[in-house]
Amino acid sequence: MENCLFCKIMAGEIPCKKVYEDENCMAFNDISPKAPVHILLVPKVHVENVHSIRGEDEKIAKDLFSAVSKIVREQNLEKSGYRLVINSGENGGQTVFHLHIHILGGVKMGWNPV
Ligand code: AMP
Ligand code: ZN
Repeated sequence: MENCLFCKIMAGEIPCKKVYEDENCMAFNDISPKAPVHILLVPKVHVENVHSIRGEDEKIAKDLFSAVSKIVREQNLEKSGYRLVINSGENGGQTVFHLHIHILGGVKMGWNPV
């Protein structure tokens, strides 16, 4: 989609530090990391957020979670643990309106969402 930051990154128009790619999704380091490991996992299809996934697009969720399990294994996060975050909409703190999963790890995290 035009004017979408993550679509532009996936098209190679904006550089990124890619850590994973398959036919359905791509993952790259967050430009402003909130943890020692901070990866953004993005579906190649442009969907805004979880609640805009419909019908045939439900495969996107399955594809994303199978990529999560490959990425956490590759990043050696399985044993130490990690956090997945999906910010949705204004109150959820979403700033890029192309669905993405934050994969955070490398530090013991607290619970302080606000
Ligand atoms: P969210 O606030 O959940 O929509 O997450 C958007 C994320 O994209 C933020 O954590 C930003 O730091 C990250 N971000 C913004 N621009 C870039 C970029 N050019 N490359 C990588 N990550 C980015
Ligand atoms: Zn997009």
